[in-house]
Amino acid sequence: MKLQDPSLLKTQCYIAGQWQDTQNHTATPKVFAVTNPATGEVLAQVTNGTHCDAEQAVLAADAALRDWRGLTAKERAGYLQKWFALIMENQTDLALLMTSEQGKPIAEAEAEIAYAASFIEWFAEEAKRIYGDIIPTNHDNKRLLTIKQPVGVVTAITPWNFPSAMLTRKVGPALAAGCTIVIKPAAETPLSALALVALAQRAGIPAGVINVIVGEDSAGIGEVLATHPKVRKITFTGSTRVGKILLGLAAQSVKRVSMELGGNAPVLVFADADIEQAVTGVIASKYRNAGQTCICINRVLVHEDIKEQFTQCLLERVKSLLVGLGTEVSVTIGPLITQQAVTRVHALVTDALANGAVALLGGQAMTADKLIGQGLKQQQFYPPTILDNVQPDTALVNEEIFGPVLPLMTFATNQEAISIANATEYGLAAYIYTSDNSNAWRVSEALEYGMVGVNEVGITSEVIPFGGIKESGLGREGSKYGIDEYLETKYICMGLD
Ligand code: ADP
Repeated sequence: MKLQDPSLLKTQCYIAGQWQDTQNHTATPKVFAVTNPATGEVLAQVTNGTHCDAEQAVLAADAALRDWRGLTAKERAGYLQKWFALIMENQTDLALLMTSEQGKPIAEAEAEIAYAASFIEWFAEEAKRIYGDIIPTNHDNKRLLTIKQPVGVVTAITPWNFPSAMLTRKVGPALAAGCTIVIKPAAETPLSALALVALAQRAGIPAGVINVIVGEDSAGIGEVLATHPKVRKITFTGSTRVGKILLGLAAQSVKRVSMELGGNAPVLVFADADIEQAVTGVIASKYRNAGQTCICINRVLVHEDIKEQFTQCLLERVKSLLVGLGTEVSVTIGPLITQQAVTRVHALVTDALANGAVALLGGQAMTADKLIGQGLKQQQFYPPTILDNVQPDTALVNEEIFGPVLPLMTFATNQEAISIANATEYGLAAYIYTSDNSNAWRVSEALEYGMVGVNEVGITSEVIPFGGIKESGLGREGSKYGIDEYLETKYICMGLD
């Protein structure tokens, strides 16, 4: 990994404006290794922060709160604009860091950095548009109004699949609203978070406004971030399992929460769909980030009349995807994040095959001759896989796969398609392919999901409200709604003479 600016490689916690090793002298081990999932190469030894460092960081965020919330929105926006510019200036290095520690193809990493930066720019702009209300009074000697105020100290726990965008989507609105923050990135991908924060420091964002704890003890650090009395809100992106733990902890002191949790996205391909367009969308959504995204298609429901044609077209196209090292420009599918992830994905596939599914492509361990790039750990990769005839009660279509595996199922009627699509505890994203406008409307309304893509899978950006219903989460990130998650509404009643 050769960065143009090697000073972006940080290996310490950032607390109260200082880069520091863990202050917990009993912590063992003192450091942990961050590795390249494709090769196993150790990229850095990072300090192993603990719950003690988390406490210190919360106190630092609390100490910085008064001054930060006291700035005008324009002043806070100015800092965020500088940070945005620095992220874009360093896009190449940040992308290389991400591909090195996370594995995704370099083009996807570059796109993620621009996407990550867009949240900082967007919320710099939104900071200036936090309005209150004047409420028409219901009493002659009272005047009624509301103002919006920052929630206070916020903590954020972020995942490894989008290590930069999931961080800025939380930090951007928090800082814009006047909150201060403590971030705990995933232990698999701390370097992307630390580099972003190094740029925030360069942008002049004052000490204590942003703090980062890196460490392997996620549960210990998480407990402090979800229960400390100075913390007023916790925002989390990750699994539904961990989200439920954090919700339970946050409930003890009634903290505000935002939860972006798991998904089980269906795509409904109707008989009148443009098949080429549907196949392009399915591939883009399913195989992006090797299938490790919470909105990526988890189940394909295709109308029985077009099943053959759709499947043939899909097979041809998926066969040409190239697996290997993310820094090789021809590669479209990188490694999975860990070897355990590969084992888990393969177990889901094996179970589906044992229950009547048929492998049209892949379904077996990756072989070295099919990999592109040098020095690769073949056990970290999984081949693009298509399974046909998958039964609705199989784990593969009821769990979040988080791998490059595409299960195919068929339907005969619209009602059947909608019932299968909604038969899950998740409700994040769903997709429809149809050329009938009325069908698109009715099905969009019937799907129990927070987001629906119609003839389109590229649904995310900073301008839209991202989020799920049911066990996929609480709250929305991005858009004009995203900043509300970091604001309290205060009502003021003025009595007149
Ligand atoms: P994923 O399946 O994407 O790894 P996780 O929910 O396991 O999702 O991880 C998301 C984030 O939650 C990571 O930063 C991880 O370190 C953190 N995490 C994992 N377990 C806990 C826990 N018990 N308490 C708090 N945070 C946790």
